Amino acid sequence: YGDYNQKIDYVFKIVLIGDSAVGKSQLLNRFARNEFTLDSKATIGVEFQTKTITIDHKTIKAQIWDTAGQERYRAVTSAYYRGALGAMLVYDVTKRPTFDHIARWLEELRSHADNNIVIILVGNKTDLGTLRTVFAEDAKEYAEREGMFFLETSALEATNVESAFLTVLTEIYKIVS
Ligand code: GDP
Ligand code: MG
Repeated sequence: YGDYNQKIDYVFKIVLIGDSAVGKSQLLNRFARNEFTLDSKATIGVEFQTKTITIDHKTIKAQIWDTAGQERYRAVTSAYYRGALGAMLVYDVTKRPTFDHIARWLEELRSHADNNIVIILVGNKTDLGTLRTVFAEDAKEYAEREGMFFLETSALEATNVESAFLTVLTEIYKIVS
């Protein structure tokens, strides 16, 4: 009965967006359950996962929404963005088009979500470094220009995954507290 008596101070909704197969579901799988699978169909049907964390002695339930394969342009509905305080915009560092599409996702996000939503740009799959087609410097510069945080991650190796989610959650906490 681990958290039976745990009082939740805040619930923060975060949405995952970005092209298909960039690793959104596995980033969530890594963060929420410390698991990783090469089978990308593993999480179909799951709307969101939660993870409870502590910031500043406050108990925060992160409710992280994952697209169930609706990454086609404009297929993600406004209900998905509703109430989101944070967003993780994910591309694959080995697939240039997934980075080029970030502008489109950002536009979509800005038209549906709250104005002061906290956004982090995430370049995933750094473990495939030899196949890299997007330089970190370019992505970082783009993120700064657009007022986003930025990190590169590997869901496979569990690199920076926790930091990426905590960056968003801590920033949201600063805004709402
Ligand atoms: P989504 O469509 O954005 O949700 O992508 P998935 O999370 O389903 O991942 C797509 C594929 O990429 C799957 O085969 C994953 O195992 C793989 N994948 C996800 N993250 C990583 C990573 O950090 N490194 C590597 N090498 N593969 C990854
Ligand atoms: Mg997925």
